[in-house]
Amino acid sequence: MGHLTDTISFGDNSIVARPVCSKCGAPMWLTRIQPDKPSFARRTLECPRCQHSIIEVVELEISLSERQLGRRLAALVLQLISKDAERT
Ligand SMILES: [Zn+2]
Repeated sequence: MGHLTDTISFGDNSIVARPVCSKCGAPMWLTRIQPDKPSFARRTLECPRCQHSIIEVVELEISLSERQLGRRLAALVLQLISKDAERT
């Protein structure tokens, strides 16, 4: 039951915000997110309407040491995925 004291911020929330499909304008779903190089995450978004999909690499502002980063990012990714699944 640890309390998370580290600050994790995403700048403009670009990792959480969902873009709209460039083809049909429907809000895209985040289908996959995975760590990329340090401080970056790669996310896959898919349009539920026309199945158009894109892969984006977004920069994270994370004030953690790189040693902690992998574990925290993995936990965070799981959180994001489960949140996303709840909404769909
Ligand atoms: Zn679309």
